[in-house]
Amino acid sequence: MWKLMIHGGAGSMRPGQLDPQQEAAARAGLARALDAGAAILDEGGGAVDAVEAAARVLEEDPAFNAGHGSVLAADGHVECDAAIMDGNGRHAGAVAGLRSTRAPISAARKVMEDSPHVLISKGGADEFAREAGLEQVANSWFVTPERRRQLDELLAKGHDAFDAEIKYGTIGAVAVDRDGHVAAATSTGGLTAKRWGRIGDSPLIGAGTYADDRAAAVSATGLGEIFIRTAAAHEICARMRYCGHDLQAALDHVLDEIGAMGGTGGVIAVSPAGDAAWSFTTPGMYRGLAAEDGTREVAVFGSD
Ligand code: ASP
Repeated sequence: MWKLMIHGGAGSMRPGQLDPQQEAAARAGLARALDAGAAILDEGGGAVDAVEAAARVLEEDPAFNAGHGSVLAADGHVECDAAIMDGNGRHAGAVAGLRSTRAPISAARKVMEDSPHVLISKGGADEFAREAGLEQVANSWFVTPERRRQLDELLAKGHDAFDAEIKYGTIGAVAVDRDGHVAAATSTGGLTAKRWGRIGDSPLIGAGTYADDRAAAVSATGLGEIFIRTAAAHEICARMRYCGHDLQAALDHVLDEIGAMGGTGGVIAVSPAGDAAWSFTTPGMYRGLAAEDGTREVAVFGSD
C-alpha cells in the first residue's frame, strides 16, 4: 500500500489566531500537493517521482517558504536549499544557495541522477541546473511582498534569524510506493534574515532529509542549526535500526533531544512497511497525508 505525507513547515499557528485567508490558502496548497503525489503513486509510480511532484507544487505556492514565496536573507536576496533522497540504494542529491533556479527540488534530483556529486552550492548549483535544462528566473521572481515585509520588520526591530517568532515554512514530502521503496524531499528558503551564504539542515543529507529502505524516509522543518547538530533525520533511522524503535517513538525521541538543545520544529516520516508518523514541538505544523486506502488528511494545528 502506498502512502504520502507532506509538510509545509512548523510554527506558532494556533486556532483562532491564524489569519483565515492564510489558513485556507495553506490547506488548499497542501491538498493540491497531495493530489500531485498521490496521482503518481496510484498509477504505480515510484516514491521519488511522487515526492518531487508534491514538492514542486509547494515550491510554486507562495504560501510556503520554498521556491516562489521563499523568505529573504538579510541582504534582501532569496537563497534556496533543497534535497532529495531515494531509500532504494540511498542515492541522494542536494543544492544549496540557489538564486535563479525555479525548481530547487528538481535541481536536487538532477544532482542525484545526472552528476557524480551529492551536494552542489551557490553559483555552481544554478549553473549545473541551467545546463541540465532547468528554467532560470530572476531572483525577484521568488520574492513576494509579504516576505519582503517580514524581512523589513525583523531588521527594523534589530532582530536576526534566531529571534524571529517561530514560523518555519519549509516544505517536505515523504512517500512509500507499492514496491515498498521510500523517498524524501525537502525544499526551503531557509530562515528570514539569515546571513547570505548560510546553509540550513534541509539540503544536508542526514540532517533535514534522509531516506533508507531499511528504516524510513524523513523530512524535517525547524531551526536548522539544531537539526544539523543532532543529525536528526539520520538519527531517526538509526534509532529504528539499532534500538528497534517504532517510527513514532523514533520521531518523538529525536524531537525531545532537539527541544533539550533549544531547538524547535517538526518531522514527517514513512517506513517501507507503510507506517506514517509526524511529530512537532511547535503549536502547529502544516501537514497532510494520503494513502492508497483512501485516507486524505490536511491539518494545521496540534489539535487538528
Ligand atoms: N529548517 C529550515 C532551515 O533552517 C527552516 C524551516 O524549516 O523553515 O533552513
